[in-house]
Order: sequence, then structure tokens, then C-alpha cells
Amino acid sequence: MQILWAPWRIKFIKTHKKMRSCVFCKKIKSRNDKKNYVVYRSQHCCVMLNLYPYTNGHVMVIPYRHLKNLSELSCEELLDLFSTVTKMTEVLKKVLKCDGVNIGLNLGKAAGAGIEGHLHVHIVPRWFGDTNFISVISETKVISQSLQETYQLLSKEVKNCDT
Ligand SMILES: [Zn+2]
Repeated sequence: MQILWAPWRIKFIKTHKKMRSCVFCKKIKSRNDKKNYVVYRSQHCCVMLNLYPYTNGHVMVIPYRHLKNLSELSCEELLDLFSTVTKMTEVLKKVLKCDGVNIGLNLGKAAGAGIEGHLHVHIVPRWFGDTNFISVISETKVISQSLQETYQLLSKEVKNCDT
């Protein structure tokens, strides 16, 4: 019996295992963008609708590479990531006519990251009075527009956007 000793494989196997269980990696790898609500793809990242949105039009900008920290991204990836954040912000303002936008990253579990291993930038459109009595009293968010409808609106507009 021969034993193949390849300790360098461990790192690959561990990373690969993590990537395979990552919901973002799965959607990035899949080309069914409509089903996965991938609104837009740039060279190094993509924009996905959040399936459990804080508000209508809540999207996430996600680098293709499975990385935990901003410092692991190359300058080119960082530029592409924040150019896409800028572009999507303009699209959200135009399409959803929001009064403001929250942009943020939750890095690490302590900071509230839901999917910790794969960094992503949240863009949350805000309107005056959007935290109404229902969400304050019952902590239930009322989402007035369906995901499909939002997907159609945003993916259409982002194609026409030059920002
Ligand atoms: Zn991932």
C-alpha cells in the first residue's frame, strides 16, 4: 500500500470546504443570476439582492474571491468594489427615489456579520419615516416591494448607468 503524503493539501482542502459551504461563493459560481437575484457583475465583484432585507432595495456588493478582510483584496479589487458601491448607490437613488443610503461592512461575528467568511458591503436605501410604528413596536419589517420587482428595476437601470 502506498501512502501519499501531501501536507500542503490540507490548506487547500480546508479552504475548499469552506468555499463550498459559502452561500455567496455558490451564487457567484452559478450563472443563474436571475434565480440568485444577482443584479450586476463587474470584473471583480457582483451585486446581489439581500433575501432578508432591512428595507426594500437592500443590496450587497460582494467580491468574487472568498476573503474575510478588506486588507486581503488587491488595489484593483478594492477600486472595483467601491466603484460598484458608488454605481449601485446612484442606481438605488434614481430607481427607488430614496432619501438617504446606509453603506456598511460588518467585519467579524462581534460586528454582526451574518456570513463571516466572505466580506460584503451592504447598501441599504432609506426614506424619511421608514422606521414606522410597526417596525418599532413589533420589530417586523414591512417590505412593500417584492424581490422580483426590485430585481427587474435595478438590473435594468444598472445596465444604463455610466457611473
Ligand atoms: Zn465565499
